[in-house]
Amino acid sequence: MLEKESTDVTSPSPNNNAEAALQLLLFVDKRPSSVEKIRQVRNHLKHLQAEYPFSLQVIDVSEQPHLAEHFKLVATPTLIKLHPAPRQTLAGSNLVTQIENWWVRWQRSAEEYSTRVLNELEASGDSSSENGSSVVAYEDNSVAHSAQVIQLSDEIFCLKQEKEALQAQLQFKDRLIAMLAHDLRNPLTAVSIALETLDMGTNNPAAAARITPELMAQLIKHARTQAKAIDRMITNVLQTARNEGAELQVNLQELDISQLCHEILARLKPQFATKSQHIKTDIPGDLPHVYADAERIQQVLVNLLDNAMKYTPVDGEIGLSILHRTTQKVQVSISDNGPGIPSENQDRIFEDRFRLKRDEAKDGYGIGLSLCQRIIRAHYGQIWVDSNPDRGSCFHFTLPVYRA
Ligand code: ADP
Repeated sequence: MLEKESTDVTSPSPNNNAEAALQLLLFVDKRPSSVEKIRQVRNHLKHLQAEYPFSLQVIDVSEQPHLAEHFKLVATPTLIKLHPAPRQTLAGSNLVTQIENWWVRWQRSAEEYSTRVLNELEASGDSSSENGSSVVAYEDNSVAHSAQVIQLSDEIFCLKQEKEALQAQLQFKDRLIAMLAHDLRNPLTAVSIALETLDMGTNNPAAAARITPELMAQLIKHARTQAKAIDRMITNVLQTARNEGAELQVNLQELDISQLCHEILARLKPQFATKSQHIKTDIPGDLPHVYADAERIQQVLVNLLDNAMKYTPVDGEIGLSILHRTTQKVQVSISDNGPGIPSENQDRIFEDRFRLKRDEAKDGYGIGLSLCQRIIRAHYGQIWVDSNPDRGSCFHFTLPVYRA
């Protein structure tokens, strides 16, 4: 609360403070350059308080930024005459002079206000007005009330924002479910066709004759590839749903990045083959190990290679190279000779749910690259794309070198 956190400059007796019709707020900060200015203003106010009692609350803007925002402060120190209305704000280097200029008028308006309240109370026959206690109650309420209103309006604002964010999240999750259901249909159908053909081969002797060992191996491989694609889609969606806005957890360990890349490429080979895409690698044999979370980096590599495959036409060329870039960093690059990414969107593609209009008809949710970015950032690395339209894209990311 405002009253608890702020301090009265002069610690006036409760009586004095309570009787004050003039209420001031002094906003201060802790910057060394402000110390002298604030000291002068506080001394001046102390001096004035001896002549005419008023209530003063000193508020540190760093502790109560919502109040600074509410009063639209542009500088500190700032003195606000809160009561009687109208509110008035004084700021600037010559604050003491400004206070002096306004002081008599403020004092007069406070006196007029007190007289008016007393008259009104007398007219309404309130006996307690004689000792001024009703005025006191009114005055006390004024600052407390003002602080409460500020706090409540802040809370309402935050609640509104939270509600909007939750609504957007719910909408996004609905969309994800719909898209996932749609995207899963193709690989699921492919898996079930492969399984049914194999099943026919084992249970029907006539069909078995037509299923050669090569065809059988191909069907099994196809089913496996499709099942992996399904698994990846679900993992991406679950991870996005779970981690939205949250800091990503990584388990950093020594990792042989070359070996991981070779393993992934071997696994994805059949998929590249389905589009007759060629893979070119440049992975030096003497690369240092990196300090990384193997599972997360695998996700990044698979997402980038998947994209390269998805957006590059049949017969295209996909490259994977690794460079020991500096003593501290290893850089992994995945290139393709697909349609490229327009320069104005080269940052935006890493945003959550951003997809190029051009690619909206292709399967996807626009979350793969944003997940990659979060993973790489959690490794204190960088991820970016170099691309020239029609000359392909090259995604790069860096990882820290492992030091024993
Ligand atoms: P998704 O592929 O599911 O749409 P991503 O976050 O992986 O989501 O990619 C965001 C967008 O960036 C894609 O929709 C596509 O427009 C563009 N993009 C990503 N990778 C490539 C690539 N290798 N070549 C061309 N465009 C790409």
